[in-house]
Amino acid sequence: MTEHRITVAGVAVDTRHWIGGERIASAGTFTDVSPIDGSALGDIARGGPGEAAAAVAAAKAAFPDWAASSRAERARILHAIADGVEKRIEELAIVETTDNGALLRSHRRGVMPRVAHNFRFFADWLLTLDHEDFETRGHTNHVSWDPAGPCVLITPWNAPLMLATWKVAPALAAGNTVVLKPAEWSPLTASLLADIAAEAGLPAGVLNVVQGYGSEIGDALTSHPDVRRISFTGSVPTARRIAESAAANLTPLSLELGGKSPLLVFADADLDLAVDLAVEQYDNAGQVCLAATRFLVEESVAEEFTRRFVGRATALNQGDPRDEATDIGPNIHSRQLEKIDGFVQRALAAGARAVIGGHRGDGQYYAPTLLTDVRQDSEIVQEEVFGPVLTLQTFADEDEAIRLANDTRFGLAATVATGSRERAERITSQLVAGTVWVNCFFVRDLQAPFGGSRLSGVGREGGTWSFDFYCDLKNTVTAPNGWKNHG
Ligand code: NAD
Repeated sequence: MTEHRITVAGVAVDTRHWIGGERIASAGTFTDVSPIDGSALGDIARGGPGEAAAAVAAAKAAFPDWAASSRAERARILHAIADGVEKRIEELAIVETTDNGALLRSHRRGVMPRVAHNFRFFADWLLTLDHEDFETRGHTNHVSWDPAGPCVLITPWNAPLMLATWKVAPALAAGNTVVLKPAEWSPLTASLLADIAAEAGLPAGVLNVVQGYGSEIGDALTSHPDVRRISFTGSVPTARRIAESAAANLTPLSLELGGKSPLLVFADADLDLAVDLAVEQYDNAGQVCLAATRFLVEESVAEEFTRRFVGRATALNQGDPRDEATDIGPNIHSRQLEKIDGFVQRALAAGARAVIGGHRGDGQYYAPTLLTDVRQDSEIVQEEVFGPVLTLQTFADEDEAIRLANDTRFGLAATVATGSRERAERITSQLVAGTVWVNCFFVRDLQAPFGGSRLSGVGREGGTWSFDFYCDLKNTVTAPNGWKNHG
């Protein structure tokens, strides 16, 4: 028993799957490594098709009762999970930081409170969810959101518990049961979530957590005929594989994928604000899907913008993410670091100039980098790096700004810095993006639709859109006559 529990920064974490309300081990394990210092944190259960089948079977068995529970009961349990998260914010924050290297202060003050909010928001939204009935020639149409069945939720490592719970909460609120598969580079907080949910009274089998490599356990989950929804956040190549696998049963998919989003800075913008927004793009060591990694700056202010940006960026503290003073932590894995450096070295070889950075730091850190003299059709401008690597291009006028902004295969987000409301309206209406921020960045309300256009995703989640995805919408049409027991 005890060999399946590891202690991470003083917190006990179970390394096994959580299936049908029980901890289940696998014959094999994989080693989870901290990006902070490369130390091994523990050996985690390495699930495969057998564990996938067991987890889906548990979710299927638990589905009828959970689906039949009242909205009020589900909301009560989701709030109890939120209470459990709030009680364990410090533990969740330090475990997540140790596991994925993102800043402890962000986890403590922003991310983990948001995890609790994910549960509270969808619990409350569930209770308000209703369509007005409408009439057709005296017949009443009543639309209901029916639970769909077992859902497979697959998540990445850059914001593990945040992104997992943004799916788990609405899926459970909708009356579905869940199999959650966290990323193999950050498996720990999903295991803690299983403990918290059980303590909150979530019935066995309603939430299952399976660990392992996507390549080994993924297909068995996504091709399973009893799975009625798949929500995936991750990379485009994995999304393609999942879509192929889901095609066997035409399982509905929600895909939240990568980006190559622009920050457009116009000459009429508050330049200090624009630089604030620009520096934020190094958050989480650049491992943010929504990051505005392409700076597009109006020619007349490009030199001054660059000067101020360099001043700010070179003053950022890079170091141990547990330290309150740190601004940029390590990248997740040595393989990710190699990938990042590959992009940068190929860009430099193709003629790009590093205004700052352009090389690795010590250990698993990458020097915050800004590249200029980059061509629009070059790899560094077109492909997602997912590291602290930004590019800067200039534009002469609005038309060129929009053309450059829209000229990638992605369409996740865009950020616009301008002092003109009219310009903002003109520009935003032409940008291809799921989210556009004007003179701000990363303001995310759970009521809003969230997702990407083009290769950045399929579908939208958030608010009612989450329930539209996780439910089978049903329209019941009732005739005014035909009753035998009236009058
Ligand atoms: P990834 O695609 O490599 O892995 C994501 C998850 O998919 C992991 O849990 C992995 O184990 C699993 N997986 C891998 N192969 C699988 C398969 N064949 N079947 C089923 N599951 C499989 O992505 P990553 O490197 O973990 O995450 C980074 C990517 O995620 C970036 O592209 C980033 O932009 C994107 N992302 C998008 C959003 C968004 O909301 N749009 C948010 C965060 C991250």
